[in-house]
Amino acid sequence: MTGQVQGKVALVTGGASGIGAAVAELLAREGASVAITDIDEFRGEELAAALKQAGHTAMFLPHDVTSEDRWVEVVAQVEKRFGRLDILVSNAGIGISVPSIVDMTLADWRRQTAINLDGVFLSVKHCLPVMRKTGGGSIIMMSSLAGLRGAAGLAGYCATKGGVRLFAKAVAMECASVGDRIRVNSVHPGIIDTPIWGKIPTEATGAGQNAPIDPEERAKLATPLARAGHASEIASGVLYLASDASAYATGTELVIDGGMNAGGVPRK
Ligand code: NAD
Repeated sequence: MTGQVQGKVALVTGGASGIGAAVAELLAREGASVAITDIDEFRGEELAAALKQAGHTAMFLPHDVTSEDRWVEVVAQVEKRFGRLDILVSNAGIGISVPSIVDMTLADWRRQTAINLDGVFLSVKHCLPVMRKTGGGSIIMMSSLAGLRGAAGLAGYCATKGGVRLFAKAVAMECASVGDRIRVNSVHPGIIDTPIWGKIPTEATGAGQNAPIDPEERAKLATPLARAGHASEIASGVLYLASDASAYATGTELVIDGGMNAGGVPRK
């Protein structure tokens, strides 16, 4: 059976862990050649090796999404190896939580913005010209439920993810207006059980340590479906947007959040 993205070439940022790793794995299983990029070289190399061992086409490139020079090199390496780029999954991101926005340092605000927003801008700036050469493709930006509504302690994160949401719509309009067959959409996960939750307390340098966040505990209380989501459940949404199954979808947002954005349910 033909895979849903057979013969396509994909680049996944932040692909060494969590949602990015699940996306890289699913796209590879569905027939794409996948370039995984991340600052985590150990896990990135490990995942690329495992995918190759399973008979898929994959490579890992060490990559900090905030470095424009590195973006130029990464895109050139992908083009050299695979000859084209059809799918960009701009997924790398961090979360910094502080009890109050007044406790956030400017350094932390800028670091989070650099990765979550500048990194997405640079991904489009450098990948779009290569995607345009073959005339089509799909750009998927990883926003968040926090890009649709506010969350206490996460004002900076919400600002970056809200920015990603509207950036996706604006790039979608630009691509459509010049007749590109490149579609651009954003994905909005709710509470997904990935290593990001364990990193949030140590990221908060501005206001000391927060209590570690257990995504399953939080999701039980906050999510109508009463559980955290799995990275694979976000990957299947990304696959839909990456494949021709979503050929008529651009400038839209795919919310995968166990019902959180729809409202609340009384807990018995
Ligand atoms: P994760 O921590 O498991 O994965 C994030 C990856 O990004 C890591 O491999 C990390 O090394 C990489 N990364 C961090 N900084 C980078 C940089 N400067 N350059 C390149 N790579 C970098 O987290 P995750 O949950 O898989 O998060 C993936 C995306 O999903 C993020 O954008 C996050 O904001 C978003 N998201 C996650 C959740 C959730 O509940 N897990 C919810 C909504 C949105």
